[in-house]
Amino acid sequence: MLLKEDRKVSGAVSNLLLEHYGITGEIHPLQGEVDLNFYVIADSGECYTLKISDEADFESIQFQNAMLSHVKECTMLKLPYVVRSLSGNEMETIIFDRETRLIRLLTWVPGRLFAYVKPHSAKLLTSLGIASAELSQALSGFDHEGAHRAYKWDPAQAFWVKEHLEQFPTEKEAGTIRYFYDLFEENQPLLRSLRKSVTHNDINDYNILVSEHLEKAVVEGIIDFGDAIYTYTVNELAITLAYAMMDKEDPVYAACHVISGFHSWRALTETEVEALLTLIGARLIISVTASMLNKKENPDNEYLSISEKPAWKLLYKLQNIPKSFIHYSFRSACGWNARPGKSLSPDKVSFAPVIKGLEENIYNIDLSVGSKKLGNAYNYASKERVDLRIKRILEDADHTIGYGRYGEVRPFYNSSEYQKRTDDGFLPKARALGVDFFSFESRGVMAAYDGVVHSVLRSGNEATIILSHKVEGIPFFTLYKHLSTSSIKDVVKGKAIKQGVLIAKIGSEGVHGVRLHHLHFQIIYDLLGYEMNFPATASSDEWNVWSQICPDPSPFFKWKSGATINTGKQKIIEKRDKYLGKALSVSYNDPLHIIRGYKQHLFDITGRPYLDMVNNVAHVGHEHPAVVEAGQRQIAVLNTNTRYLHEEITLFAEELLATLPSHLKVCHFVNSGSEANELALRMVQACTGSRHMIVLESGYHGNTGGCIDISSYKFDGKGGKGAPEHTHVIPAPDYFRGIYQGQSGQFQKYIAHVKDALVTITSKGGRVGGFIAESILSCAGQIVLPTGYLAEIYKLIHREGGVCIADEVQVGVGRVGEKFWGFELQGVQPDIVTIGKPLGNGHPLAAVVCTQEVADQFNNGMEYFNTFGGNPVSCSIGRAVLRVVREEKLQQNALQMGNLLLDELKALQKQYPIIGDVRGHGLFSGFELVRGLTPATKEATYLANRMKEKGILMSTDGPDNNVLKLKPPICISQQDIAFFMKQLEDVFKEDFLKA
Ligand code: PMP
Repeated sequence: MLLKEDRKVSGAVSNLLLEHYGITGEIHPLQGEVDLNFYVIADSGECYTLKISDEADFESIQFQNAMLSHVKECTMLKLPYVVRSLSGNEMETIIFDRETRLIRLLTWVPGRLFAYVKPHSAKLLTSLGIASAELSQALSGFDHEGAHRAYKWDPAQAFWVKEHLEQFPTEKEAGTIRYFYDLFEENQPLLRSLRKSVTHNDINDYNILVSEHLEKAVVEGIIDFGDAIYTYTVNELAITLAYAMMDKEDPVYAACHVISGFHSWRALTETEVEALLTLIGARLIISVTASMLNKKENPDNEYLSISEKPAWKLLYKLQNIPKSFIHYSFRSACGWNARPGKSLSPDKVSFAPVIKGLEENIYNIDLSVGSKKLGNAYNYASKERVDLRIKRILEDADHTIGYGRYGEVRPFYNSSEYQKRTDDGFLPKARALGVDFFSFESRGVMAAYDGVVHSVLRSGNEATIILSHKVEGIPFFTLYKHLSTSSIKDVVKGKAIKQGVLIAKIGSEGVHGVRLHHLHFQIIYDLLGYEMNFPATASSDEWNVWSQICPDPSPFFKWKSGATINTGKQKIIEKRDKYLGKALSVSYNDPLHIIRGYKQHLFDITGRPYLDMVNNVAHVGHEHPAVVEAGQRQIAVLNTNTRYLHEEITLFAEELLATLPSHLKVCHFVNSGSEANELALRMVQACTGSRHMIVLESGYHGNTGGCIDISSYKFDGKGGKGAPEHTHVIPAPDYFRGIYQGQSGQFQKYIAHVKDALVTITSKGGRVGGFIAESILSCAGQIVLPTGYLAEIYKLIHREGGVCIADEVQVGVGRVGEKFWGFELQGVQPDIVTIGKPLGNGHPLAAVVCTQEVADQFNNGMEYFNTFGGNPVSCSIGRAVLRVVREEKLQQNALQMGNLLLDELKALQKQYPIIGDVRGHGLFSGFELVRGLTPATKEATYLANRMKEKGILMSTDGPDNNVLKLKPPICISQQDIAFFMKQLEDVFKEDFLKA
């Protein structure tokens, strides 16, 4: 046994290093299974690995050295290279620990160990496949007698595992080992046909080095060639996969990225891909068997069984996934047909109608995520409502039978059984693998094609029949689900059935008085070991594989293709580029294609829900049923301008004014926040005759010419030309990173800037028109105004005869929790309040509310007409929003959930100093990322993008874009906050803080 962590060792090693390599420096022991390894930081700054090996390893080391010299010439990968000794040798014989040993020095490969890199992104996994292939390719022209050896870690030589089968402590373990061992034995003929070459044979997660880059982390290097051997070429990939798949929720998904990377660099053969699972299994059972034996011999050496737990977990997982599904997925990753067998041609095969009445005019019911027929998500919040909705759709279309298309993603498949777990949360398995028929009557079900009854399965009062068929040597099955058990008496396993023969009746009946019969029909090429529980839906990421196992039945019924979903994202991007102004931006590095919203969630085209933590427009929740209904009902009756009498506008004005302090008496309804502020500016000028406005740094008030002129966020930002003459910018009172920091003594310094601005205005012979500020600063980075700040400024402005505007476009309507309006937190009385985003919950509705004096002065004879502002539809919607806030107690919810969120974030801040500040009121909050006081912009952007991958929408703001802003729909629940915090904490545990 070699000495391991002996202090004396370092001294001895230092001497050897100086003697043989003329190098002095720091020496740190490293872990290793066979050799004694040291990390050397030479005084020159160069880093090395020094290895001391048994004398008996002489030939093996010679082989390794020859191999490294060879690959050095043919790959760009970062690998350890041999440093010659002072005497010019690749290794030296030494006496160490009183024994003859071999010493050699290798260059150090920089980077992070793959094992410690989080997350293992698709890009990283693909790059791992490429690196593995690159090494495989580099080694392909190399051979050495040292490589031809017996070695227990070679998956090709896994036979030795068999003799230890009985030594596993549990039957579960032994059973799993047997499953993979049997696979290994059964597949010997296949394995023997594989090409061979020298392989590294140990691309495990501790031998892989990853670049330091945060978002674009890729594999750059591979170390430790001590396991190299001449074996099946594809073992390189199999071993890479065995480790890369560990600790993954969905190991097959992870593997597919590695495989596609590998195949893109070094083409795999179909046989190699077929052998992959066997070889992955072989390596894993070698690993767990070696761990089991090692534990018996060296119970204290943890390094020897470092991969044991994850290897077991992976083995169990793989054992539970159908082998052929894994094979098909791997093939699909290579860009081949997922299923190697032949497929039916609709030109040669025609199905009989499977349901009586199908010959008639059958109606296609759009049940997709974005279906407007399906309407509001409320309509499918329970099974009964789904049935009711489908029935209504059919009735409206004057049909009694209809079908839901193959390939359609259905939003009501949202219970846990329709979810697939991934490392980044759940993905919906909601894409239909068959056709679903819905009928008012219980119709007869007929065999689609000549066949034999494969199985009849009963569950409760429903039954499923699977028929097996063969056409021109191509076997396939048809599946009929939701049949009435009483109708299938004479259909028994093995019975021959002719095409078009009645086999059953549809049986399922709706509840709560809704009678709707449902038949699910599916074609299946490979039952994958399933029977009744054969999946009826798949997740979008696995669609390429599943759609080849279960093809679209419509061409066999001679319908037009059913699958019309998924207008490619890329197409939309191209069309946006072509037809829309380039100044429009889109969120996220990989933009989202959102087609539905409900309450605090948005749903993309795959049906994936995203928790919306950033949309304060969908104030009471996206597509809130009460708001939707209010708009729909009114627009069906009347939508015209304010020149006729209509009660909706006066009721809305009355109800809105009731939420505001009594000095605000008059409403003007407009269509956007910008329009509201534009009107407010006109009011200022009407009242004061002045255009001089005092505004806050980084403030944003709208997109019109007038609003841009008072928006420092725009005129001081990209493409801006600085403040116009009549705009006077004062600094944002940011105690955390503003120009005056810390709490004490800074207040008056900020106020002094207002006084200075007033002096500047009067010194030029002007007078102040007004002051505008958001009640909590949003674009400036969710900055809460200091206590008394607005009161002090309003006093100064009013003294000079100016007008004070509270911009409540972001924060109003109950969001800040404690109060209904943000300015009320400051205890001030604005002359004008502008309201936008939340008021219409997504409908373009905004308002300017002002005092009687302001309204009177504005009314100078010139008519104020607004084509759309104040129309009955907008007013109905506005009233519904106010009603929902009231009835659902959402202001209280904003307070409670807002406080909970702030508390949780402050607790997280204690663990992670990069969270420099947490601030906000109610559900208008944010946290700022800093390194010291330097804005951590890159990390903030990364965080927003990473959270999106985990199903949460948030975005950055502030002058340095380092503030994560949080302003979710105020119907958000405690459960949502728990989910948000869990995902956030998980990302903090990843690598982004280390970058
Ligand atoms: N004021 C503030 C504070 C805003 O945040 C915005 C929009 N982000 C506006 C006004 C302009 O509103 P709109 O986009 O509805 O015109």
